[in-house]
Amino acid sequence: MSGHSIDHSFALQSQKIITHITRGSADSMTAESYLNKILGGLYGQALGDAWGMPAYFDPDQTWEKFGWIEEFLPAPDDHEVHRGLPAGRITDDSEQAFSLAREYIAAGGVTLDATVRAIVAWYDRTGGDESRYVGPSTRRGVQALKRGEDPRIAGRAGDTNGAAMRISVVGLLHPGDPMGAIEDAITSCLPTHGTNVAISGGCAVAAAVAYAMHPNATLDGVIAAGMMGAEIGRQHGTHWIGASVTRKIEGAVAIARKGTDEKARLRELYDVIGTSLAITETVGAAFGVLVMANGDPKRTAILSAALSGDADTVGAIACAIAGTLRGIEAFDPAIPQTLDRDSVFAWYNVPQIATGIQGLIDKNK
Ligand SMILES: [Mg+2]
Repeated sequence: MSGHSIDHSFALQSQKIITHITRGSADSMTAESYLNKILGGLYGQALGDAWGMPAYFDPDQTWEKFGWIEEFLPAPDDHEVHRGLPAGRITDDSEQAFSLAREYIAAGGVTLDATVRAIVAWYDRTGGDESRYVGPSTRRGVQALKRGEDPRIAGRAGDTNGAAMRISVVGLLHPGDPMGAIEDAITSCLPTHGTNVAISGGCAVAAAVAYAMHPNATLDGVIAAGMMGAEIGRQHGTHWIGASVTRKIEGAVAIARKGTDEKARLRELYDVIGTSLAITETVGAAFGVLVMANGDPKRTAILSAALSGDADTVGAIACAIAGTLRGIEAFDPAIPQTLDRDSVFAWYNVPQIATGIQGLIDKNK
């Protein structure tokens, strides 16, 4: 029980840091600065996803094949999941995120029904029953929803990283308001990822992105917002088995800030924090590479791919946060140009999604 009171005071402390950072600067949050950051978040999501897509599960394998991955590359023919995908192709992470964004814009906000519509339509569109790309919790959740289960309980056993990989768009809808993002993130997790472990991971990412939307946001504030989201999120959903997302973030940030060389730190992140489908590992590792890259979107993508494991998901999460923090103007222009040329990415019309998110923010002011 004492653990719980420590957690609670940590959440309060984090909230104080964020309130301190954001207080009195609401005037500087212009419509223009939102769009720069919204586009940064959306293109960042796709950047990390497509950049990490060709990486192998094991870092030694990735390094032997590619060295550092420093451009968009096609998946190798022997890749377990992504074989056949061309350079610059996004995967389920960004497709689900953009699908959610489109439905939330249409619904005027984050709702259970819009979440269900987005995920089930994406699943059917991509041939979910036979697809290699559907994660275990998403598949179970969608199948339960299709049997007519209540979306509030369909995801009661969902504990993998799908909750965090798709949730950046919920953060974009709440500029400078991590608490608002956390509330909507819980709703967004429930239909497929309703365990306290998954909701913790989802809320960590949503809160970090929401905070990163603020023009005065700092990397330290992003970490605090993420840990606060993880703590509050953990108090919701089905009680489940899983390490603390907060402690994983804390551990990953400590490794990221060590004086050892980059490859040694990546190896330590892989071995100690982990990059499996377990959401505690994925979210922790994402904060690790984000800190190693000092929030630079392209560097974050390079490090996520080098880290390997579920690299596209770690990359999607970390680069969505980095892109939001720095804004699209900080991107090498070749990145959005390459993404725009891909047919799957183009289908989602990301510039239109950005305008829609901006419109929803304006409406809810
Ligand atoms: Mg993926």
